[in-house]
Amino acid sequence: MSNCLFCEIAAGRIKAEIVHEDDAFIAFRDISPKAPSHVLVIPRRHFDGLNDLVGPDSGAVDGLLAAGVMAAHAEGLAPGGYRFVINCGDDGGQSVGHLHLHVLGGRPLAWPPG
Ligand code: AMP
Repeated sequence: MSNCLFCEIAAGRIKAEIVHEDDAFIAFRDISPKAPSHVLVIPRRHFDGLNDLVGPDSGAVDGLLAAGVMAAHAEGLAPGGYRFVINCGDDGGQSVGHLHLHVLGGRPLAWPPG
């Protein structure tokens, strides 16, 4: 989609520190990490966010979560634990309008979030 930052990263037109990619998903480091390890996983296909995952597209989240687990293993986070976050909409704190999964770890993470 034009004017989408993460579509531009997926297309290779904007640089990112990619840690893994396949035909459907790309994992790259967050530019402003909130934990020692902070990876974003995105589908190559554009979805604005979680609210798009209805009907035939509801299964897209399965692959996204599986790609996130792979990223967590690759980052060495599995033994200590980690957190998945998907912010949705303004109240959810979403700032980039392309579905993405945050994979955070490398330190104890507080709960509840703000
Ligand atoms: P959210 O607030 O859930 O929409 O998360 C968007 C995330 O994208 C934030 O954590 C940003 O730091 C991150 N971000 C924004 N621009 C870039 C970029 N060019 N490369 C990597 N991460 C980015």
